Amino acid sequence: MKNGKKSLIGILLLTVFLVNITAPVSAYTYSGYKWNTNYVGYQKDSSIPGSWSSAISAAANTWNNAGSTFSFNPMITNNKLYYAGLESGTGARTYQTENNGHLTRCTTTFNNIYSWSTSSGGTSGCLDVQSVATHEFGHWLWLYDLWDDSLDTEKTMYHYTGFNEIKKRTLDSDDIAGIRSIYY
Ligand SMILES: [Zn+2]
Repeated sequence: MKNGKKSLIGILLLTVFLVNITAPVSAYTYSGYKWNTNYVGYQKDSSIPGSWSSAISAAANTWNNAGSTFSFNPMITNNKLYYAGLESGTGARTYQTENNGHLTRCTTTFNNIYSWSTSSGGTSGCLDVQSVATHEFGHWLWLYDLWDDSLDTEKTMYHYTGFNEIKKRTLDSDDIAGIRSIYY
């Protein structure tokens, strides 16, 4: 059984490699791991400010409305959102747990060393909760960050966000292609 699992991983890696060769322009990048259900819960830890609720559900609903079969749902779960200290330079971080080829748990921490905004137009000097939450929920799909400064800056999965940036609230067609390719 162990050998069987190893060769499966080898095949997955090889597939990713071949796709990269034939399509050097990456519309999205994906780990290859998905949830074994299309209905995944998220829960706000008590550290998350109560005023963030609608921004976070708006971020979840943005992915829910992307035309895939997947949905994020607020519920009591181990998949949690936290507001806590991270290192300088990081807005938020998501950890994925994988078991037997499937995603089994995600957590996201929003960095409390920065100021955050839920204002509809964003706020100068603040990171935008909805924009960053939409990006991090993309990592809950185990989409990867995108790094191409000439091709990817308008995509929700672009790796960088600035203060008062709200554009990641809405998905780019490539982000949509990403979730649809995983959950269809
Ligand atoms: Zn990211």
